[in-house]
Formats: sequence, C-alpha cells, structure tokens
Amino acid sequence: MLNIALDGPSGSGKSTVAKIIAKKLDILYLDTGAMYRACALEALYRGVNCLDEGAVESFINEIDLKIVYENGAQKTILRGEDVSQKIRQNEVSMMASNISSLPCVRKKMVEMQRDVARGVDCILDGRDIGTHVLPDAEFKFYVTARPEVRAERRYKELTEKGQTVEYDKILEEINVRDYNDSHREFSPLRQAADAILLDTSEMTIDEVTEFILSKVKK
Ligand code: C5P
Repeated sequence: MLNIALDGPSGSGKSTVAKIIAKKLDILYLDTGAMYRACALEALYRGVNCLDEGAVESFINEIDLKIVYENGAQKTILRGEDVSQKIRQNEVSMMASNISSLPCVRKKMVEMQRDVARGVDCILDGRDIGTHVLPDAEFKFYVTARPEVRAERRYKELTEKGQTVEYDKILEEINVRDYNDSHREFSPLRQAADAILLDTSEMTIDEVTEFILSKVKK
C-alpha cells in the first residue's frame, strides 16, 4: 500500500503539489484541511462559536459531512450541499484553525480520514498526517516556506478568485494560524521524526513535485 503524508503550514504549496502527485501516480488525494473547514462552516450555520467545546461537541458526531470524488477531484459535501468553494473563503480559515484545536473535532475527523485512506494508495495533506493520522505512512514530507512567501501565495490565490483581501492582514493571519496550529495541545503541527523537510520558499511547484516524486519512485 502506498501512503504519502504531506504536512506543513498553510500556504506552503502542499495541496497544489499533492493534487499533481495524485494525478501522476493515479492515487487518491485527500485534502484534510477541507474537512476542518467544513466543520467550521457547520458551526457558522448553527451560530456556534468554534471555540465553544460543549456546543461543538453536541453536533460534531452527527455532522452530515461527506467527501466524494468527481473525475478524481475531491468535493466536500455538507448537509447535501457542495461547499468546496464556500469553505475556501478567507473568514473560514481562521474559524477552521480554531475548531481544529478541539479534541472532539480532531477525533471525529481523524476517524473519517482513516476510513477514506484505508486500503487504498493515497496521498493525504494536512498538519498531523505523518505524526498522527497515518504514522506508518511509507513516505512523509514536511513542506514549509517563509511566512512572507506563503502570505504572498495566499494573497495571489485569493485575489485571482476575485476576493478582496489585504496582504498585511493575510500575513498576520498566517502567523496566528501557524501559532495556533503548532501550539494546540492535541496533535499539533510538527514535523514527524521520519519526515523529509522541504523549504519551498525558493522552489517552483514543478520543482517540489519532482523532488517528492523522485523520493517516492526510488
Ligand atoms: O490546510 P488548510 O489551510 O485548508 O486547513 C485549514 C485549517 O485546518 C488549518 O489552519 C488547521 O488548523 C486545520 N487542519 C488541521 N489538521 C489537518 C488539516 C488542517 O488541524 N490535518
């Protein structure tokens, strides 16, 4: 079974790379961040604060969330609605970072992620794939880049989608999310001891993809 774990902070380029690799190797790709984003959206629908553990705990096990694949592309379905675009909104990012710190949310999402990954060749991207979700993955990478570079990438991505955002605000949010993700008690963002570290600040998407593929093919 081929399992590839791709972890790292937001804007490191890991999801773009993971999608390309999945296509090239013809394996399944799971963007686990999308699942935490969907949890945040569900909290928003319910008018629940993402840090209110009791309130989140009361709905998380019944969340109507499904991950489906259409022509190889992942679709995130919440309450029967395709929310794949909605969850990309910038305001959902910070909420996702908050809700993902709750153990009840992580427990449920990790169960779902393992169900998707069980028995299939796959690449998962997230924050805790190599350390927690798939600790036995054959290949683990920790992909990062300087915060300013990641903010620049995120700024470009969002403005290209027509969202109005400010670079300074994006950079600040990236720093806050980095801090939250790496300091939470339960499954924080960190490099697995057996993961290969890759700083993509000065690398193109093609270079990162080639590097990972060269390791996997060996
Ligand atoms: O990767 P993305 O930016 O879409 O993830 C949104 C949020 O979900 C992250 O800021 C992080 O807090 C959380 N996340 C996580 N564990 C994962 C994937 C994402 O905690 N495996």
